[in-house]
Amino acid sequence: MGRSVLVTGGNRGIGLAIARDLAERGHRVAVTHRGSGAPEGLLGVRADVTDSEQIDAAFTQVEEQQGPVEVLVSNAGITDDTLLMRMSEDQFTTVVDANLAGAYRVAKRASRGMLRARWGRFVFLSSVVAMTGSSGQLNYAASKAGLIGLARSLARELGSRSITANVVAPGFVRTDMTEVLTEDQKQDTLARIPAARYAEPEEIAAAVRYLASDEAGYVNGAVLPVDGGLGMGH
Ligand code: NDP
Repeated sequence: MGRSVLVTGGNRGIGLAIARDLAERGHRVAVTHRGSGAPEGLLGVRADVTDSEQIDAAFTQVEEQQGPVEVLVSNAGITDDTLLMRMSEDQFTTVVDANLAGAYRVAKRASRGMLRARWGRFVFLSSVVAMTGSSGQLNYAASKAGLIGLARSLARELGSRSITANVVAPGFVRTDMTEVLTEDQKQDTLARIPAARYAEPEEIAAAVRYLASDEAGYVNGAVLPVDGGLGMGH
């Protein structure tokens, strides 16, 4: 009968591919959205990850409709790229608030049910730039690097209760987020990727599926790159 899963930002992009993949394998899958509605076949719950009250209400709805969250995929994320000299404090804090503090908020709310069940899986969507840095993405890279410390601390705090916390670090994936890159930026990045192509969202979903599985119970605090070799060496 599968697990009760919640994917933040599961209404499109990588999150939707993860949600569909887990649903196809028999899990009960809910996704957060910010007003776009639920994709067909998935339970949609409205929540902005910058708002604790909305998160609490969304978790309560998931609990009522498919049971306490056993697998949390913290995927919601944004970019707001510019060089440090031009980056306002608001641009910095807005990205960190959504990507890093948002993950803290959903993880905290999910941990309650997992502790009660003495079983759980956290998977956080980071990025190759967490390790390599990225010119023009200081806010984004900092938020994605922060997720690694967050996940590893969770792994230490909750590891003895059969709860794992792991990180997937994608390279470039074909979604709306990378669609906005200029042709020059796309060519430049392609030249640096050993696989010589972008990933499909389904290839990220396959890694998340493994980390969310029963079989991955002894994998904890890991950072799994799914980047076509782009980040090798860190
Ligand atoms: P998209 O831009 O396609 O989708 C982002 C998702 O996050 C949307 O569902 C969006 O909801 C949601 N979201 C953003 N902010 C919030 C918020 N405050 N509250 C709730 N939901 C929010 O991104 P991708 O699918 O490409 O990326 C998914 C994750 O993977 C992100 O964390 C991203 O940083 C990471 N990643 C992506 C890479 C890529 O190349 N695409 C590479 C490495 C990492 P809405 O529809 O309402 O806007």
